[in-house]
Amino acid sequence: MMALDQDCIFCKIIRNEIPNTVVYEDNVVKAFLDITQGTPGHTLVIPKTHVPDIFAYDADLAAAVFSRIPKIARAIKASDPAIKGMNILNNNGKVAYQSVFHSHIHLIPRYSAKDGFG
Ligand code: ADP
Repeated sequence: MMALDQDCIFCKIIRNEIPNTVVYEDNVVKAFLDITQGTPGHTLVIPKTHVPDIFAYDADLAAAVFSRIPKIARAIKASDPAIKGMNILNNNGKVAYQSVFHSHIHLIPRYSAKDGFG
């Protein structure tokens, strides 16, 4: 499961061709800090195969990728007692504000209802 796209910015992150801060990595996903920290710890989880959006997943890949989310979310939350909650978002298509066309799941820690996100 390593079909990568030469020109995709997130495929380049998987190959460490551009700088990134790893939060978690295994054979299926890579999690790294979003360059735009919506709140501190804002993390993106991406499949290690080039999938443009949710519409392109098959059931096995979806199960493999999304089953990792609770563990990564727990690890982020456990890293800072000030984290009280988390928004988990996945944008699909330009009209849904997707700007990078390698599927990714946003994990956005919430510190308070007034922490500047949303
Ligand atoms: P939006 O830009 O509306 O949030 P997406 O859901 O497609 O749309 O999110 C893409 C995310 O990728 C953005 O939050 C952006 O900050 C992040 N991003 C873009 N380039 C990089 C990079 N080189 N390293 C880390 N994150 C990046």
